[in-house]
Amino acid sequence: MTKLSTYEIDIVKSETSKIDQVDFNNLVFGRTFTDHMFYCDYVNGEWQQPKIVPYGPMTIEPSARVFHYGQAVFEGMKAYKDDDGNVFLFRPDQNFKRINKSAKRLAIPEFPENYFFEGLSTLLNLDKSWIKPGLGNSLYLRPFVFATEAAISASPANTYRFMIICSPAKAYYTDRVRVLFAEKYSRSANGGVGFAKAAGNYAAQFYPTSLAQKKGFQQVIWTDASTHKYLEEAGTMNIFFRIGDKLITAPNNDRILDGVTRKSVIQLAEDLGIECDVRRVSVKEIKEAAQNGTLKEIFGAGTAAVISPISAFEHGGDVFEIPEVDDSYATLFKTRLLNIQHNLAEDKHGWRYEVL
Ligand SMILES: *Cc1c(COP(=O)(O)O)cnc(C)c1O
Repeated sequence: MTKLSTYEIDIVKSETSKIDQVDFNNLVFGRTFTDHMFYCDYVNGEWQQPKIVPYGPMTIEPSARVFHYGQAVFEGMKAYKDDDGNVFLFRPDQNFKRINKSAKRLAIPEFPENYFFEGLSTLLNLDKSWIKPGLGNSLYLRPFVFATEAAISASPANTYRFMIICSPAKAYYTDRVRVLFAEKYSRSANGGVGFAKAAGNYAAQFYPTSLAQKKGFQQVIWTDASTHKYLEEAGTMNIFFRIGDKLITAPNNDRILDGVTRKSVIQLAEDLGIECDVRRVSVKEIKEAAQNGTLKEIFGAGTAAVISPISAFEHGGDVFEIPEVDDSYATLFKTRLLNIQHNLAEDKHGWRYEVL
């Protein structure tokens, strides 16, 4: 791996900033982008000179393999600002490892660690004013890689582009969501790409999710593809169940995305003395727990919404409402995570990463 220092990133600064046109109080997630973007091309078996340029459209051949075979992976992470203007990332090493794990599964060459971190910090320093302080405000970062080679034979490309774009995100109160447990469609299969943040995984969920939405459920909780008896995860979130005072979440496997929020919640539960079982969770036991009143909470965990509480689920034509509890674990974990991310709480596991 070649050594790279910041000044070696080619930077073309935007002449004007769009920031004054942005209403930071009314941001719709993922629609507004900052002034700059980072990119780096893979050509002749090597990652080339990384660049930062003004955010904007780019030219790609219609025959680029990404459009035909979906050879693309991505990451989702956030930058936070404390009241003194210091900027932090949350466990970015995990995102770095994961994008390369995803890339490997899609036959995409690995991206060098120093490029990833220098790219992030240079870009964040340029677009720092887009990160607003205040609990829950953040800058959503989207690193991604895709096959650019202009050739439509079904084989891995010889050229790729790695990019990072940034989108300001607002502290938002998320309503509790209603979900449907999958009985017919599947998100991923054994030996497949479910563990990877592969672009196609998400496209494949849109149709079954739209069917669920027509029935009044915002999201699908995916079950194992072979039996549909075990609950695995949501479309972009891992999932936790609280029965009595105990948490349960499915173990990672090749169908489930190894979420950073999930593993942080498991650690926080341990810190707080909350028992958390990592084991298979059956639809049957959750329905029984809902019926006998021991099911206290279900919530999703993922970078975008942090913790997303669930108010009801549907399975086999039956709808189960989950009454709100006073001592919500969802709220507890959300507060703890946000406080660590915003430099308001002790960070005993070293999860905060200061962007200098
Ligand atoms: C990104 C993602 C998650 C959550 O991962 P985090 O690292 O916590 O953001 C969970 N499941 C799927 C399918 C995802 O794509």
